[in-house]
Amino acid sequence: MHYDVIVLGAGSMGMAAGYFLSKSGKRTLLVDSFNPPHNKGSHHGDTRIIRHAYGEGEKYVPLALKAQELWNDLEKVTGKQLFLPTGVLNVGYEKTDFIQNIISSSKTYSLPLEILGSIEVNKRWPGITLPNKYIGCFEPTSGVLKCEECIEAYRELAERNGAAIITNSKVKEIMVHDKKVTIKTDDHTFSANALVVSAGAWSGSLLSMLDLNVPLNPVRKTFAWFDVNEDLYNHKEFPAFSFETSQGHYYGFPNIDGSGLKVGRHDGGETINPDEAILGFGELEKDATDLRQFLHHYMPSTQQLKYGKTCMYTLTPDEDFIIDLHPTYSNVAIASGFSGHGFKFSSVVGQILSELIISGKTEHNISPFSINRF
Ligand SMILES: Cc1cc2nc3c(=O)[nH]c(=O)nc-3n(C[C@H](O)[C@H](O)[C@H](O)COP(=O)(O)OP(=O)(O)OC[C@H]3O[C@@H](n4cnc5c(N)ncnc54)[C@H](O)[C@@H]3O)c2cc1C
Repeated sequence: MHYDVIVLGAGSMGMAAGYFLSKSGKRTLLVDSFNPPHNKGSHHGDTRIIRHAYGEGEKYVPLALKAQELWNDLEKVTGKQLFLPTGVLNVGYEKTDFIQNIISSSKTYSLPLEILGSIEVNKRWPGITLPNKYIGCFEPTSGVLKCEECIEAYRELAERNGAAIITNSKVKEIMVHDKKVTIKTDDHTFSANALVVSAGAWSGSLLSMLDLNVPLNPVRKTFAWFDVNEDLYNHKEFPAFSFETSQGHYYGFPNIDGSGLKVGRHDGGETINPDEAILGFGELEKDATDLRQFLHHYMPSTQQLKYGKTCMYTLTPDEDFIIDLHPTYSNVAIASGFSGHGFKFSSVVGQILSELIISGKTEHNISPFSINRF
């Protein structure tokens, strides 16, 4: 069967693209090595933070706002709660780029932001012990996305729109010729007029089949859940958080319906080959000790480690994304290198990929995410 579009990699970005393409009437095939959502890539672990005032730079704010609008639409269409309005507390030294970007982007885009000293933070959330060298920037309108449920929702709608999805099938070859694309798995060959490559941590080797040598670095990341006192850390009172401290950059989530408090470290991690087995949580001694020392300093009322998991980031050298058309093949769109902060944007990235495939352009400013910048 020949399709209008093949989406290679039906994870966070690919599943959203599959939804928008199929909604536009494109005969769409999604192919994935596993059965998304799954726990082998970058999108598992229950929750992802969505922030609007953006520490990584103002260029992300219009995308974050559009992404939020599309998540709200997805909730309406499915009748499911995918977003929890917990608010997000960003903590850091006042003079850092991260905090200054949050403050300036909230001003430029009139986003609600409460700038709090450490005493105010500690009083408002007694589960936090913030030293007075830090400030808190609380964004009351942002919050938490239920990541696997978001992917499930897009999958359900894409299939309802007529998209086909082939699971547990790893793409091993890609060929582009005369405006036609062919991909091969062990068992099948599929062709289409256009291709979206959204293969997360595996993108590097697939893009090299399209003559692109992109400096992508897949990194092992760890996160874990800790027992907590519900009164102090439940999601109706306690926000999601991102702490840029002198010991490292940590993020986390309140206790959601008995989950425990989830915490992970954003910086650091070990470069890996995504095709090889990755060490599980706790196989490196620092996995647990690192998170414990963060909690010991900043959230000392947290209790026992419940369990932890590993996941992968795909880092670009500047930690900005790649969202672009292939420089040679205008029928190939690429979304990769989401550098550990991409999930919140996956709704809008899916829409952008669909626009790039259908019309070759998008109204969003994706020039900072050009593949040619490397
Ligand atoms: C621990 C952790 C915490 C995070 N926290 C946040 C957060 O709070 N907020 C936020 O916005 N972002 C966060 N992120 C980042 C975010 O989750 C990722 O940026 C995002 O999920 C990347 O999406 P993706 O589509 O590129 O990759 P994925 O969702 O992994 O999808 C890629 C898909 O491609 C498939 N694939 C790969 N190769 C092939 C092949 N050869 N053939 C067929 N299929 C293939 C894979 O099976 C996979 O399903 C976090 C990431 C991690 C790991």
